[in-house]
Amino acid sequence: MLERVLTDLEARMRAAPDRGKVADYIPELARVDPARFGISVCLADGRQLSMGDAEVPFSIQSVSKVFALAIALGRFGETLWIRVGREPSSRAFNSVVDLELEGGKPRNPFVNAGAIVVTDAILANRAPKETLAEIVRFLRAASGSDAIHIDQAVARSETETGHRNWSLAHFLKSTDNLRHDCALTLGTYFHQCAIEMTCADLARAGRFLAGLSRDDDLISRAHVRSINALMMTCGHYDGSGEFAYRVGFPGKSGVGGGILAIVPGKASIAVWSPGLNRWGNSMLGTMALEELSDAMGWSVFNAG
Ligand code: GLN
Repeated sequence: MLERVLTDLEARMRAAPDRGKVADYIPELARVDPARFGISVCLADGRQLSMGDAEVPFSIQSVSKVFALAIALGRFGETLWIRVGREPSSRAFNSVVDLELEGGKPRNPFVNAGAIVVTDAILANRAPKETLAEIVRFLRAASGSDAIHIDQAVARSETETGHRNWSLAHFLKSTDNLRHDCALTLGTYFHQCAIEMTCADLARAGRFLAGLSRDDDLISRAHVRSINALMMTCGHYDGSGEFAYRVGFPGKSGVGGGILAIVPGKASIAVWSPGLNRWGNSMLGTMALEELSDAMGWSVFNAG
């Protein structure tokens, strides 16, 4: 059943005439072929089904924020919420206005300002290299793939051009919500966003959030629940309501066009299509998840 659904889905997504717009504010990302489409699904019975470009590495960008948050919750628990909120946002993911209105406490850990604070938190007592190694190690352990790595060209490209993030970091510093130098925290954040991996690896890396991996040591069950709740309410920024309405399970997008989506107890899904919608989330990725959710009855809002 699922195999047929995915084969069908892939054929239709490949042929879709409107594919959205590839992110070009990070010059290296603008070079990615918008025709790419890959999807991979890990199931509770241990099977993994993949279609299209599921073995082609791409820049996971903000999907990395899920894994940085998992590490931060593991180290700091609830005290993290002193520095970052847990509410959805109604402005763009890189909004400076939102941060100013909130007095320097980012609305949630998935908007850029919040993710910069999370990265700043996990830098405590660690050098940037160690922090990045910790994130990559976490991903490798969760996915069982040693191929996951940081694309230095993408990291450099964003370090040179990411002025919006620089302004967020400076604002956070001005309100005393950044412990390290802006350059140190942002350098780490840009490298974390530049992690490159395939849909197949990303779907496997998400299994601990769906309760599919035997490996319970990655993080506690309570933290899994917290992360899924935040992915549902904040994972697609000001488009999170739309995503919940159409797809109906937690997801986290990245401007590289990837989405990690979690069907609790049932599936961990990674999809990649580089063209974005007006919220900066993968246009066809969302559409594919919506169709998959409908076909499989996977929305968590189904009443039976
Ligand atoms: N590195 C990107 C940025 O900070 C990540 C944003 C995203 O994927 N939404 O702008």
